[in-house]
Amino acid sequence: MTSIVEEFLALKESSDADVLAMQVGDFYEFFAEDARLVASELDLQVSEKSSHGSSYPMAGVPLAELTPYLKMLVERGYSVAVADQRSSDDTTREIVRTVTPGTLLETTDANARYLAAVVRDGSSFGLAFADVTTGQFHVTTVEGRERALAELGRFDPAEVLPGPSVREDESFARALREDVTETVSLPERESFAAGRTRHRVREQFGEGALEAVGVDQSGPGVQAAGAVLAYVADTGVGVLASFSRIQPYRPDDHVALDATTRRNLELTETMHGDADGTLLETLDHTVTSMGARTLEAWLTRPSRDARELERRHESVGALVDDALSRDALREGLDGAADLERLASRTVSGSADPSSLVRGRETLARLPDLRERVESTPALAESPLSRVFDRVDADAAAALRDLLTDALRDDPSALGETGIIRDGYDEELDRLAAEHDELQAWFDSLADRVKAETELTRLTVDRNRTDGYYIQVGNSQVDRVPDEYTEIKSLTNSTRFVTEELEEKERALFDVETERAERERAAFEELRERVAERAAVLQDAGRAVAELDTLASLAEHATANRWTRPDLVSEGFEVEAGRHPVVEQTVEFVPNDAALCEDRRFLVVTGPNMSGKSTYMRQNALIALLAQAGSFVPAASASLAPVDGIYTRVGALDELAGGRSTFMVEMQELSRILHAATEDSLVVLDEVGRGTATYDGISIAWAATEYLHNEVRAKTLFATHYHELTALADHLSGVENVHVQADDSGDDVTFLHAVADGAADRSYGVHVADLAGVPSPVVDRAERVLDDLRAEHAVEAKSDRTESEPVQAVFDLESGDIERESGEESEPEPELDETTREVLDDLRSVDVNDTTPLDLLRKVAEWQDELDD
Ligand code: ADP
Repeated sequence: MTSIVEEFLALKESSDADVLAMQVGDFYEFFAEDARLVASELDLQVSEKSSHGSSYPMAGVPLAELTPYLKMLVERGYSVAVADQRSSDDTTREIVRTVTPGTLLETTDANARYLAAVVRDGSSFGLAFADVTTGQFHVTTVEGRERALAELGRFDPAEVLPGPSVREDESFARALREDVTETVSLPERESFAAGRTRHRVREQFGEGALEAVGVDQSGPGVQAAGAVLAYVADTGVGVLASFSRIQPYRPDDHVALDATTRRNLELTETMHGDADGTLLETLDHTVTSMGARTLEAWLTRPSRDARELERRHESVGALVDDALSRDALREGLDGAADLERLASRTVSGSADPSSLVRGRETLARLPDLRERVESTPALAESPLSRVFDRVDADAAAALRDLLTDALRDDPSALGETGIIRDGYDEELDRLAAEHDELQAWFDSLADRVKAETELTRLTVDRNRTDGYYIQVGNSQVDRVPDEYTEIKSLTNSTRFVTEELEEKERALFDVETERAERERAAFEELRERVAERAAVLQDAGRAVAELDTLASLAEHATANRWTRPDLVSEGFEVEAGRHPVVEQTVEFVPNDAALCEDRRFLVVTGPNMSGKSTYMRQNALIALLAQAGSFVPAASASLAPVDGIYTRVGALDELAGGRSTFMVEMQELSRILHAATEDSLVVLDEVGRGTATYDGISIAWAATEYLHNEVRAKTLFATHYHELTALADHLSGVENVHVQADDSGDDVTFLHAVADGAADRSYGVHVADLAGVPSPVVDRAERVLDDLRAEHAVEAKSDRTESEPVQAVFDLESGDIERESGEESEPEPELDETTREVLDDLRSVDVNDTTPLDLLRKVAEWQDELDD
């Protein structure tokens, strides 16, 4: 006979899972390496188990407590196989489920949890996304790896299954791990095979389902979808039936947002990886987990469908205008059960009685919510009234009635009696009546005996060891009838049983057992009936989700005085715009933004910390919010929908986050230059800072020309290369704006106000002056600066054919200026060596990158040197 440990090791060998939990009686046990791992991850006690002369570490959890441990392990990225005993007679085990990050049904947070597959066919990529917790299923195909990575990242999948050809592409695999997911799993290659996957998809969704959502029957999308289905089936989570249909997902319907942009704009995670201070957290006033998921989906997958956006804006508008109805609706939604999750759990057979009762209560709210919308003219006339269209009201009511008829209001846990309502199941009612009758016989036994005998000091009771008994006070023991059999003698009393009592007791035990079994069976039948109607729960859940999300957007818009954006065909015009997150914490200075064909590229200048990045991000976020369907933080906004938002932020900012190198910066720039179109919004916060000044300016300059001339995207470009402001004179669509600062006092005050034109002076030199740098040095610095500015070093290549190129050369290292025209430059004033050294040193200081304290230290050094 094999030992338990051997059986464990053999099962482990047969599974791909990181960890195996094996049932041993009333416990799940982990052995050997697995025991050490779970003990350290989950703080479990390790004991030793000896087997065939060897000793193995062992750790265990009670059967009923496995779920929280599973959850913790899987959320930390481990996959866990669960092996159960085949039956109570056959204690050998088999693996019944493998829980992986992408198939964790037991999750308790509100977030969507996607399992994704990606398959490559030439330059096409097939993508499938399935959320086992809600039954959402999307399939699509996209062209090009960048797009594939961007779409994958957008769903933030918990686990990704790359197809065979994708696995061989090392850089794709690396990007997958870096930008998309922590868990990449490699199911067998055959599970991606074309024939097999097509068959699976057809079996699951029926003939023609893929064409209906615009996915080619023989393309890589089918392979991705089939591989996801196969994987879900293999893990044994049992939710396949909750994928009742494929939801259309066409990437072109959505605003392109790559991983960098999602990170830079801090949509769902800050640059430091927190949830606090994100756009989602700021905006989220939803009162249901379904609403929270939908809001996140809208923010990470903003729409380009003008009709859909109109619908959301109209609905939000109607709810903004009617605070009373909004409050009533939100109150009606508050605490609603997660119907989408419930649907998956009924299908998998894991929903318990109380979760079905909560589902029933939520279904019961639907008519009121619908009535609220329909009876309020402003809401009824808005597209809000269509939120319920896809819910079959009769089916929802029937499901609610079924649950009401079947389940008690406050049901017991599964396995106990007290779940099913009287009158629902004839057999159960019969057993209950029998049970009650027997119970009544016992309850009245004491009185009957007292009446029939001379016994008065007598009770009837029950305990674990003796079962039912009649207990008689010892003073009356001599009076007990002959047929009583003594079973135990105590100090003051004696316990007896009778034949009839024992017979009734057996009957009671039988009926109790039978009743509990019947109750469980009735509940399981009920759960199956509900599972067959999982789609009703999903549809109702999605309606609740939309209503909740729209009300949440309206709530935020009202509280923060946001306005409805006007969707137009041309331009980007924002009056008094604010940053949606920053405005929550500071007295925000609103700023306008205007971009159009003739003014499509704004060079943003201004001192450090004046508000350049805030300004640029706020405009990107306003575009994004408008296309999420939200109102926007501005006095007014009229915007042409964009097809993509692309951002990159300065190497230095990101360096702090430990991510950036110059190479990464250039890769990001390259992606933008490839992907952006005329209809995109591009936000560049410093380009070329990660390299030497000449290189940096050259790259920034060339990128500007390319974006302006070729891509023609609407662009905001913040730079500390003042030289770039000259481009406005040469490129027709380039304009300068600057963030104002007030330097009239003893200090520079940042006004955060954006005005047209370039920043007009170097705050660096000004700060040097304020810091007490000797005036010859400051004066000289200003002259060097003026010369540099007057003599542009680069040739401006314009899209205006009439204007002549300009050319000048400067040498930042020496401060010497050579002119193309051949004119002699002014002779350098004679300076002694120390002054020259100090000046060289001064020039080499990047004021924007030096803390005031370091600057002061430097100045003190210079003063010392000059004094010497
Ligand atoms: P820069 O990019 O120019 O270095 P930031 O955009 O990072 O500057 O802004 C610097 C600081 O100024 C931030 O702390 C931000 O909160 C604040 N700030 C920026 N813009 C505004 C504004 N319009 N109103 C109020 N505070 C602002």
